This record gives sequence, C-alpha cells and structure tokens, in this order.
Amino acid sequence: MVGLLHQRGKRSAEPAGQEVCRASGARGLPNQRGTCVPRTGGDPWQNPSVVKELARPGTLRPGAAPDTAWAFFGGEIVPLKDARINVMTHAFNYGTGCFEGIRAYWNEDERQLYGLYLREHYDRLLRSCKVLRISLPYTAARLVDLTVEVLRRCGYEQDAYVRPLAYKADPVIGVRLHDLQDALTIFAVPFGTYIDIEKGLKVGISSWRRTDDNAIPARAKITGAYVNAALAKTEAQDAGYDEAIVLTQDGHVSEGSAENLFMVRDGLLVTPPASDNILEGITRASVLRLAGDLGIPTVVRSIDRTELYICEELFLCGTGAQISPVTSVDHRAVGDGTIGPVTTRIKDVYYAAVKGKLARYKDWCTPIYGR
Ligand code: PMP
Repeated sequence: MVGLLHQRGKRSAEPAGQEVCRASGARGLPNQRGTCVPRTGGDPWQNPSVVKELARPGTLRPGAAPDTAWAFFGGEIVPLKDARINVMTHAFNYGTGCFEGIRAYWNEDERQLYGLYLREHYDRLLRSCKVLRISLPYTAARLVDLTVEVLRRCGYEQDAYVRPLAYKADPVIGVRLHDLQDALTIFAVPFGTYIDIEKGLKVGISSWRRTDDNAIPARAKITGAYVNAALAKTEAQDAGYDEAIVLTQDGHVSEGSAENLFMVRDGLLVTPPASDNILEGITRASVLRLAGDLGIPTVVRSIDRTELYICEELFLCGTGAQISPVTSVDHRAVGDGTIGPVTTRIKDVYYAAVKGKLARYKDWCTPIYGR
C-alpha cells in the first residue's frame, strides 16, 4: 500500500461541514449537540474550550484546523497551533503579504493524496512576492518539497487545502514595502467543498468594483486585496445570492470574489483577459487547456455585464471553487436554468484529472505519500 512510510497524524478530522453557530445571537463554535462554545476574544488557541472543540472530530468549521495539523513556520515544521505571530506584525497591520490556495485531493482507490499544480502555485507566489518586494530564500522547487513535507506530517487521508503565505514580518509601525524582514509560512488543513458545486450557483453583480492594477494589482495574490473580495462576497450573500461577480472600474466583467469566470456564447467558451484585473488563475489556465483537448473553441476577450444575462452557460472556476456552474445572474436564468453540456464536460474531466485518475493529466498532480 502506498503511503505507509510517512508519519501520519494520530487522528484524522471528519470532513468539515458545520457553520458558526448563530443561534440565540451568540457567535461561537457549535459542538456536537449544536450548542455554542462562546469565543472569548483574543487568541482562540489560548481558550481551552475552543481548542477542545477544534480537536473533536465532527466539530470543525469548514477550513478550520484539527489539532493534528502542522505548519512550516520560522524555518521549521511545527504544530500549527504553535505557529503564531505578534500583533505588531507588519502584514497583520497593513495587509502586506501574498499567498496561495492549493488543493490536495485524496484518491481512495490508490490511498494516495495528490497535490494539485504545486509548482504552478509556487511560481505564482514568487511572482506575487516580486510585486510586494518580498524575497524568500527558496526556489519554487524547494517550496514544493516543503509543502510535501508539511502534508506528510499532517497525514490527511481526505481532501486538504494548503496555504502558503509570504509576508512582511517585522513588528514595526510604518507603511512601506522596503526595509522590512520577510517570512514564510505554509500550513495545511482538511478541506471539502468551498462552494456547493452540484447545484448551480445564483450570482449577483456586485456594487463593489475590482481593484485596478494601478491600485492593488489583482494579478498578485495580495492578502490586503482580499478585503475587496470579502466586501463583494458578504454583500452577495446578504442579498440572497451564493456568489458575487465583480466588474472592472470601466464596467467589464472581471471575476467572482475568488474565482475566474467562463461563459459560453454562440458555442464559444469565453473568459476575460488578464488585463481585466483578474487573478491569473491556475484553474482558468487548466480549463483553457481542457477545452482545447476537448475540441471546444475558446476566446479570451472582455465581457459585458449583460452578456452574462443572455449567454448559454456560465461557470466559475478556481482552486477552492473547482468548476462551479452558475444557473442565474441577477435573477435571470442562465440558458434554460440548468447546468449546460459544455460545463458538464469540462467539470467531469476536471474532477477525474485532479484526483490523478487520468494518465493524460497526471502531470498536474504530485503524489504526497510514499515518494
Ligand atoms: N480569482 C481570485 C480573486 C482568486 O482568489 C482565485 C483563487 N485563488 C481565483 C481567481 C482562481 O485562481 P486559481 O485557479 O489559481 O485558484
């Protein structure tokens, strides 16, 4: 059996699936009986009841860390609960960090965990670092190796999410990028569905516009820029939508809060260009490749808002969102309101490929265990 050689965590967490408990207005972590463990403020890791709840299988919020999680932090691999920063850390105060979101998919038949597009994510991280003038003492290849080490330590036998984060680490007041020390952390948590991909999404056009390349460049995955995404996402969900689409300053379609966008119009698969303030998504690039392989004609061009109202098919894509079909935009059905054939074809191939099930796309996947 693959994967016996690495050190696996003693306890693997259940797939995450519980929301923050809002019953009776109290915010806290729901335990197995559905009652709330109140957060007391400050560092949740210092609160024994919170730590106990996080450690108990079945009580994890989506994206939360079990007590068996590990992180690369301060140049070594440590338990995630010990990877802590000072409140004065520059990036915590000013958003001066950049990050990646990487998935690892569990293949039960092979009992193997596959890291998806590791090298591509680290190439992009290093490009983001360049924009933020962060220098890391690691090559992309070394960062891939560190990620494999962290995942092996965690020992997950389920889908996981890896978060590398490079940041300005000095505990110092003063907004700038220069004369600051840089640091890197990489941690991994169990992770299931980010967006419900089985049913179609209802999306709304956000009143928030995408940050411009000359304001906060979207092409770099900058921590502080995600306030833009958070404003759009919460506005959309408050309005009853599942997800937001943001427009550029000049009114073209840019992307979702944390996903790139594809529409099908007149049989053509269309996605906005990098110059429409999108993150240059790795899933987007892989959808373009898949479409080519499947003989689906593609075009990269700007998209008007109302094209989304009249297109045949629409989907969002990203590491977290995977391939997420959209069935309505601003209360207008996309096509006939069901998931269309082009989306279905791409989705089916994508899900097989990311789990390492298709020989043709094996190069997307890095086996984590037993190398
Ligand atoms: N746009 C934004 C703003 C994102 O945060 C993400 C997620 N990283 C994406 C697009 C999709 O990018 P990728 O496919 O590389 O995950």
